[in-house]
Amino acid sequence: MTSTNDIRRSFLEYFESQGHMPVASAPLVPHNDPTLMFVNAGMVPFKNMFTGLESRPYTTATSAQKCVRAGGKHNDLDNVGYTARHHTFFEMLGNFSFGDYFKEQAIHHAWTLVHKEWGIPADRLTVTVYHDDDEAFGYWRSIAGLPEERIIRIATSDNFWSMGDTGPCGPCSEIFYDHGDHIFGGPPGSPDEDGDRFVEIWNLVFMQYDQRAPGDRVPLPRPSIDTGMGLERIAAVLQGVHDNYDTDTFRGLIAESGAFTRTATDGEHKASHRVIADHLRSSGFLIADGVLPANEGRGYVLRRIMRRAMRHAHLLGAADPLMHRLVNVLVREMGGAYPELVRAQPLIEETLLREETRFRQTLDKGLKLLDEATGGMTSGDVLPGATAFRLYDTFGFPYDLTEDALRAQGLGVDRAGFDAAMAEQKAAARAAWKGSGEKASEEIWYDIAEDVGATEFIGYDATLGEGQVV
Ligand code: ATP
Ligand code: MG
Ligand code: MG
Ligand code: MG
Repeated sequence: MTSTNDIRRSFLEYFESQGHMPVASAPLVPHNDPTLMFVNAGMVPFKNMFTGLESRPYTTATSAQKCVRAGGKHNDLDNVGYTARHHTFFEMLGNFSFGDYFKEQAIHHAWTLVHKEWGIPADRLTVTVYHDDDEAFGYWRSIAGLPEERIIRIATSDNFWSMGDTGPCGPCSEIFYDHGDHIFGGPPGSPDEDGDRFVEIWNLVFMQYDQRAPGDRVPLPRPSIDTGMGLERIAAVLQGVHDNYDTDTFRGLIAESGAFTRTATDGEHKASHRVIADHLRSSGFLIADGVLPANEGRGYVLRRIMRRAMRHAHLLGAADPLMHRLVNVLVREMGGAYPELVRAQPLIEETLLREETRFRQTLDKGLKLLDEATGGMTSGDVLPGATAFRLYDTFGFPYDLTEDALRAQGLGVDRAGFDAAMAEQKAAARAAWKGSGEKASEEIWYDIAEDVGATEFIGYDATLGEGQVV
């Protein structure tokens, strides 16, 4: 079996052999984009290369980039545990051309690697193109020889990528692997496309326009390429399993979580083990990149992820804190590729242990309150926002944890009511400060909290060598 580590290496080596500069993953906390919570795609560290703001001594590059999608525009948190293909933390493999090669060469590389190098049979692959992108359609015919019915034209924004309201944009073409008709799901563009049968493995973005203003789009003088392939998804394909959580990286973590809690890893506890394994990876990598649990900003996203996993550990009946005991396995699986994990191992373990010890003190009481509050409810009912807020405020339950806890019973949460209760409490806190006559410092405090938000970490840039050539 090809290990995930081998697949990562094989991808980078292929593109290196094709003249691409291998570039190390940037840290998860983006330093060139204050609007972004975490790096969520391979192209993020190269943004300024695409817009022309920055130039580097290469015009093509390849990377395996750490990504977190647990908030903001791309939020896959709620999918984790329940789909075969989503994680909060994953690695995105990519090849990039900054005004060098374009569409034809990008499709040629993708096809060569997936079909010729890795041997994925052509009849398992379906691709999409943007509905008016006849060029891409033609290359999939001529280069890959795909039959027309497996080159699907899509008219939605799924196949048109843009960096923002302005800036580089263009059509994209996605490659899907068909895991077989024993799995629920339809081809892209069909009503059942959200199933897990056809899994998107690679997205090729053809940046060919510059959106200067709404309605004002001009061709880019030097079109560029940005691609993203989910390492865990291609690992599933190449290891002959359907589910990302059945690949080597996850199997070890899930086995350990089963061993510590003495529970079966499939059946009723399956989702819990997956959530724990996934959230351990995102927590570990975030802490290694300097994020620490906090009540706001990036640190709060981390806390939400950690506590959600900790509730699942509780569901499994874990008698003692669980998460910190799994870090060893994570470091064993991924420390070779990411030495920052090895360096941060003691910090990761300590942070997880402290958070879990603390959270366990209120978790039981909170869950009891939740049980009482939902006692008479039936599927489709909604928990009042005020109760969700009390769980948050008194028992440290992040909103989405409450939502996740009620999901199995088919119950929802009144989000608007929760937000209103939160706003009310903030207003009361501000009023109380004003009453104390310390208006000036109170205003400064809120300004700082709103500006800074997270536990901002800036100390690794100098040593980690983001963007440096490996
Ligand atoms: P999906 O439609 O399956 O949610 P996506 O279109 O949101 O994927 P892209 O933004 O195109 O994904 O990211 C490029 C690639 O990264 C995808 O083709 C996929 O292989 C991988 N990927 C995206 N999101 C995740 C995730 N949450 N977990 C694991 N891999 C992912
Ligand atoms: Mg998605
Ligand atoms: Mg998609
Ligand atoms: Mg995509």
